[in-house]
Amino acid sequence: MLVHDFPLDDQAEDDITWKHANDGIYSAATAYKALFLGLTLSPMDRMVWKAWAPPKVKFFAWLALQDRIWTADRLEKRGWVNCGLCPLCNREQETGPHLFFKCRYTLRLWRSIIEKLGLPHVNIPDWHLDESVKEWWVKRTDDRNPNWHAMSSLVMLTSWTIWNERNARVF
Ligand SMILES: [Zn+2]
Repeated sequence: MLVHDFPLDDQAEDDITWKHANDGIYSAATAYKALFLGLTLSPMDRMVWKAWAPPKVKFFAWLALQDRIWTADRLEKRGWVNCGLCPLCNREQETGPHLFFKCRYTLRLWRSIIEKLGLPHVNIPDWHLDESVKEWWVKRTDDRNPNWHAMSSLVMLTSWTIWNERNARVF
């Protein structure tokens, strides 16, 4: 910053300079343009905050994406008693990836949704390649997907439904 030779005058009022306009003067139009400067979406924005879902579902999605919901594998690490098996299929160890995109039960639910909504680009056989909930979720909702906005809502709402069904069986 060039502040040399800048006369400080105790008598003068401070000026506020609006840096988003060339003439330094605030206007609604320049404020509107400034809004878009920050408009590159982070993955979390795209997957959760900019998509439609009720707030409690968004909060759940935000936790699930950070692997912070209490699936059996996490309970075990904390030494909490649990049977370890996925309550939906009773066959495999319950982990986030298993519950949300690998369980037979989950895949059956997704197949029926995809068929009902007519979403042929959603390719379930690829899902086993994904190793974390986040990886799977990002791939389903990034902007290579047609209607990523709607897909983000669908992934959140479907995962929420699965999580509730899982809890209904556990508790
Ligand atoms: Zn299962």
